[in-house]
Amino acid sequence: MSIFGSMYLLGRYGGASSGAFSAASAAESKAGSASQKVDDLAARCDQLVMVCEAMWTILRDKLGVTDEELVTRVNDIDLSDGKLDGKVRKTAVSCPKCGRTIARRFQKCIYCGQPVVHDPFA
Ligand SMILES: [Zn+2]
Repeated sequence: MSIFGSMYLLGRYGGASSGAFSAASAAESKAGSASQKVDDLAARCDQLVMVCEAMWTILRDKLGVTDEELVTRVNDIDLSDGKLDGKVRKTAVSCPKCGRTIARRFQKCIYCGQPVVHDPFA
């Protein structure tokens, strides 16, 4: 093989190797970032569980609400989307002006521009 052929192959495969290394490095960086986000969410979830438990025990102790009443209310909320599955599905709303269906991510009707107020717990 000529010196020019060797240089061509070195450049071609050396470039591919460098590209693969770069892609692997970027993927590793993204995985590290995603892992950090999961850890942050887990920490926030732990804080929310503690705050919910604190609020519940205050309500129970100060107002005499029972654990059974809490369970019944949680099940009622769970069933608000028609399924007792531990999840609450967010449903679309109807525009108060034109009646068309609007996804929850929109603050105004995409058809007529009417501002839409969403239930913060729905
Ligand atoms: Zn509308």
